[in-house]
Amino acid sequence: MLSKLKPRIVHLTPRSGVDVRRTIPHREIRMIGAWCFLDHYGPTPQVDAMSVAAHPHTGLQTVSWLYSGEIEHCDSLGSLQHIRPGELNIMTSGHGIAHSERSIHESGDLHGVQLWVVLPDAERDRTPLFRHHKDLPQFEIDGTQARLIVGRYGDFDSQVTTFSDLVAIELQLEAGRNCVIDLDPSFEYGFHLASGQVRVDGESLSPGELVYSSAGRNSLSVSADTDSTGLLLGGVPFEEPILMWWNFVGRTQAEIEQMRGDWESHTERFPGFADSIGGRIPAPTLPNAALKARYNRNP
Ligand code: MN
Repeated sequence: MLSKLKPRIVHLTPRSGVDVRRTIPHREIRMIGAWCFLDHYGPTPQVDAMSVAAHPHTGLQTVSWLYSGEIEHCDSLGSLQHIRPGELNIMTSGHGIAHSERSIHESGDLHGVQLWVVLPDAERDRTPLFRHHKDLPQFEIDGTQARLIVGRYGDFDSQVTTFSDLVAIELQLEAGRNCVIDLDPSFEYGFHLASGQVRVDGESLSPGELVYSSAGRNSLSVSADTDSTGLLLGGVPFEEPILMWWNFVGRTQAEIEQMRGDWESHTERFPGFADSIGGRIPAPTLPNAALKARYNRNP
């Protein structure tokens, strides 16, 4: 079964001047495998640079991927890492980490995606880890240029550490070309379009939109009407109920309250670090009503 998801526009004040389109989580499709969050931003001229001050994460991995521009990442492990198109920043928050991000003004238009991956229960309290990868496998899929970001495809392995079965592949499609992608039938998938115009098994897709495919398929056909860039995401359906609030993923209300309290009271869970932005983002107030568990019951 295929469903087309249209993004909703999110105004993130810290990313002033940057237009953000969110497709996951969606009312109908909460997750794709363990992928639980997809923000697509730009292309935005760097008149007003993106600057996101220190903020915390727990229970997830962040995956940063750029189509153009450049971002500087700093975190509480002491990492200072620039990321450019074709390179991957992956941060495993585990028990807790804090980080900040700032776009490099001279680097041209900012265009990319920010993704989150839920950690399974057995791994979500682990020691935090940050990794930068710049030699990811490049190959052709049915004549189309592909770059493996996470997981495996055929004989290729990204060597990127994840904690559930996942894949992410960037595709550079040429106008007029059709590309048949082999799928793992135990995975569900999403194809997200960053630029151009394509049809995914006949479903027409514009930039910012995503086509979701439930598990059980062996292939997906992508036809490009114009030169296009897209991202294939996949994974084994994630069965654990989760609670997602602000930048935290937990399992119970008490845990989320603890995470929020630890950030607000500067505990050692989220060590301080120096960066060129300065300051930190305060946690929002928790809603009065209990947080609702987000079961991954996709239709
Ligand atoms: Mn973050």
